[in-house]
Order: sequence, then structure tokens, then C-alpha cells
Amino acid sequence: MKVAIVSGKGGTGKTTVAVSIALSHKKVHLLDADVDEPNCSLFLNMSTEVVGVAKIPIPVIDKNKCTLCGICSSNCEYNALMKLPGEILVHDKMCHGCGLCTYICPEEAITELPREIGKIYEASNDNLLFHFGEIIVGEELSTPVIGNLMKYISPSKSLVIVDSPPGSACPMVEVVIDSDFVIVVSEPTPFGLSDMKIVIDTLRVLDKKFGVVINKDGVGDDELERFCESEQIPILMKIPFDLKIARNYSKGIPLVQAFPEYTQSFQNMIGKIKEIVQ
Ligand code: SF4
Ligand code: SF4
Repeated sequence: MKVAIVSGKGGTGKTTVAVSIALSHKKVHLLDADVDEPNCSLFLNMSTEVVGVAKIPIPVIDKNKCTLCGICSSNCEYNALMKLPGEILVHDKMCHGCGLCTYICPEEAITELPREIGKIYEASNDNLLFHFGEIIVGEELSTPVIGNLMKYISPSKSLVIVDSPPGSACPMVEVVIDSDFVIVVSEPTPFGLSDMKIVIDTLRVLDKKFGVVINKDGVGDDELERFCESEQIPILMKIPFDLKIARNYSKGIPLVQAFPEYTQSFQNMIGKIKEIVQ
């Protein structure tokens, strides 16, 4: 079972939930796909090593073959090609590596060169296989790094947990698209509710099964809970607003290590999710 952990905005507790589930179960594969800021490793105390490089194919134009017809530049959705009087200029960092220009060039003047945009790291112990992706500073395309990371999902693990980037844009979609269930982590505040609704709209378009974990319960109001009830969205768990939890988090101590009584709660939640998925 592959479970994605998402949230409408950063700082809601996605990593807390992802790491806690991973440490509450045996034979788990945890992937940190928040490639702009992967921080699960800060809580795991495992030594990691680079096992892969994320690349995208960038067009290279052969000036001897190019007739400057402009077909490639006018069809690039990302404005990565610019037709100048004497050449086609390639903006590497705007190119999404989709391959369209290479495909449609009538003169076969375009070849592709891979460009590194991120790295994939791995660590493991008896219970946990862990991977995370990290985008190179200055690069903007996190989705291909996530796509690369997802290729490392182990078919031998019965439970796969993926910590998604925050928000509801392409990087989050890349994470949830093949998942069996999505946990939406949110804070019970007007801001949290607003962002959660956007995420839920996206999950409904993608026809995904999902439930909500309320983090920092008690910090705001009950609007989020009432919204879930009215929409028949299962509330899987509540984690209270507690300074002791925050202090341990700031020291890199996972919730289930600081408060082992939560282990059972996370196991129960996965049990509940299995029932929903089946
Ligand atoms: S489509 Fe090919 S021939 Fe036309 S401008 Fe682009 S590279 Fe040159
Ligand atoms: S590979 Fe795609 S995104 Fe990159 S320049 Fe060609 S058409 Fe544009």
C-alpha cells in the first residue's frame, strides 16, 4: 500500500506524520519527496549515500542543419526557446525536458543532452528503507526529481510512505498520482482550512481516496472539523497543540520516540486506511 502525505502549505506537520508512521511499523519504505527541502533525514539518524542523479534532457541545436523556421520556439509551452535573427536560443533553466522540440523539428537539427538537476539519496536499517531526493540549489523543476525518486519505490515493502512537497501543484500531483491513499495534514485554522480545500479539490479531480490528520488540534477553531464532517471526509487522527511536541521536534526527536504512546495511534490509523483502501 502506497500512502502519500500531503498538506496545503508548509509547516503543517507532514514530516511529523510521515516519520511517525514509518517508525511505528516494520518493513516500511519511506520516501521524502519534498525535494526543495527534504527534512525527514533530520529525524532518522541514518547515514545516507547518493544512489542516483536526476537529469532532464535539454535540446542542443545544430546550427548547420537549423533553417530558423521557428517551429520549435513557437510550440514550446515553456518559452524555453527564443528565435533570434541568427540562432535559436535555448534557456536551459526554463526547459522542462519534454522532448517536443526534438520530435517536431523538420530538419532533425535537435539532439538532447542530459542536465543534472538533483540527486537521490538512500539509507536503510533492518526496519526501514529510506530514500530522499534533493534538487540542486538554483534549479526550479522539482517534478522531474520527484519522478526520478519514485522509480526507487521498493516492490518488496508492504507499506510505502511518501512525504509530498506542500501545496497542490505539479510536484504534489506527481507524488499522489500512483498512491492508494492520501493523508492530508492540516491545522485547524482558517488559513489551514482554506489551503486544505484546494488540496481536496485536486484530490477529487484525481479520484483519490483520502482522509485528514488534524495537527496542532486546539490551536484554532472547529471549522475544519465541521467541514470534514459535512463533506464526509474521515478524520484519521488528531495531534494536539502541545509545546512539548514542538520542543522535541525542534531537537530532531520524532514524535513517536519522544512520546511512544503515539505509536499505537499511528498503527491504528494505518489499519483504518487499509480498511478504506480495501
Ligand atoms: S524546428 Fe528545427 S529547423 Fe526549425 S528553428 Fe527549430 S531547430 Fe531550427
Ligand atoms: S524540450 Fe520541451 S520544454 Fe524544453 S525546449 Fe524543447 S519543447 Fe521546450
